[in-house]
Amino acid sequence: MMKTLFLNPPSFDGFDGGAGARYQAKREIRSFWYPTWLAQPAALVPGSRLVDAPARDLSLAEVVALADDFELAVLHTSTPSFPSDVKVAEALKAANPKLMIGFVGAHVAVSPEASVLASDAVDFVARSEFDFSIKEIAEGQPLAEVDGVSYKVDGRAVHNPERAILHDMDQLPFVTPVYHRDLVPEDYFIGYLKHPYMSLYTGRGCKSRCTFCLWPQTIGGHTYRTRSPAHVVEEIALAKELFPQVKEFFFDDDTFTDNRPRAEEIARGLGRLGVTWSCNAKANVPYDTLKVLRDNGLRLLLVGYESGNQQILHNIKKGMRVEVARRFTEDCHKLGITIHGTFIVGLPGETRETIEETIRFATEINPHTIQVSLAAPYPGTFLYDQAVENGWLVHNGGDMVQGEGFQVSSLAYPHLTQEEIFEAVATFYKRFYFRPRKIADITLEMLQSWDMMKRRLREGVEFMHFLNAREIAS
Ligand code: SF4
Repeated sequence: MMKTLFLNPPSFDGFDGGAGARYQAKREIRSFWYPTWLAQPAALVPGSRLVDAPARDLSLAEVVALADDFELAVLHTSTPSFPSDVKVAEALKAANPKLMIGFVGAHVAVSPEASVLASDAVDFVARSEFDFSIKEIAEGQPLAEVDGVSYKVDGRAVHNPERAILHDMDQLPFVTPVYHRDLVPEDYFIGYLKHPYMSLYTGRGCKSRCTFCLWPQTIGGHTYRTRSPAHVVEEIALAKELFPQVKEFFFDDDTFTDNRPRAEEIARGLGRLGVTWSCNAKANVPYDTLKVLRDNGLRLLLVGYESGNQQILHNIKKGMRVEVARRFTEDCHKLGITIHGTFIVGLPGETRETIEETIRFATEINPHTIQVSLAAPYPGTFLYDQAVENGWLVHNGGDMVQGEGFQVSSLAYPHLTQEEIFEAVATFYKRFYFRPRKIADITLEMLQSWDMMKRRLREGVEFMHFLNAREIAS
């Protein structure tokens, strides 16, 4: 087995773009997802090491100092961070010319040729679902014999056949022992999750076809492929032992509630363990299922509402009706399930009026917290192709983040400028959070715990910095 380094490379300060982040950008407040997509192949390669440079605050020099200790380095990359990730690869190669370097992630799945030819330092890219490709390479199998890999021969890209998609998800070993060996849970913050939290997957893929959503269109696919409930519950039981300090487990499956009987079965197992947990959900889960989940430790749902305008939901193929989302939210409020709602401004069909409608919708349904993102046309998505076809792309779609790593709008419409879309994010946040009702909710939450008080105050300072930075930029 080659001595293998799995690396989330350093890039922008505080950049959450690693192997677990859906939107690769610096957040309004310090946030890091666990690098689960790297931990998974790391679990297949005995003796490997997983290094998450952004979460650990490791500099390029500190990462390069590791180069001599390894024979193979696997770097996770993304569209916004790709140029910087190539520089990291070049620095590693300069320090250890014998190091074989491969890139993984949705960006290389979409653009394998350009990615592998981007630099002499990149020896191969592993496309799509790369776990077993990396295992085979680490075992010493020649690149020419590894499915799902693109590599170079005499300066030209060679693309091996696609790797068969994995259906028996119980073949994937647990990631939590890798977290335990290599990561520090206290490094990982998500504003709406208890601290320290831990995230992992119980399945991959999403049956919905939202046009902007990167992962199902690149790596995960549109079938929800799942681990068995017993396998999931066994891992959480182990994690509970390994990490007694973890206050909440988060299932980062695209839509954990897509398979309701299974979600209920897992919930009952978690209920027996007595853990607090949260997950991603679509705003269409019926009351009875919500109740089973809540009765078995569910604390929070992360819900992608995207827009309060029905036509925009149709335009993006969300498969969701606004009134269903309203009823679902009322049910969650009744059951005491906390909601973190996510919204997107600048989707096809957006106007000044629909932005206003979505802000009103958000304040009416009143999730506990929200995240507002700019529509991000990632290469490989339907939205990207649509934007190219219609001439909506600005910055050539390349600059999805600005100098500090915050998102910038890559889309503009004849009736709605890039600047208006950009400014709408700060307006949305201000209108949502600077309401007496919301201020009272957050103050109450702070008064209930000293830890929460310290954390919300720190986040408040970061959030104001974010709003100020927006005002200066606009
Ligand atoms: S439901 Fe969520 S995860 Fe599934 S395609 Fe839509 S945005 Fe993506």
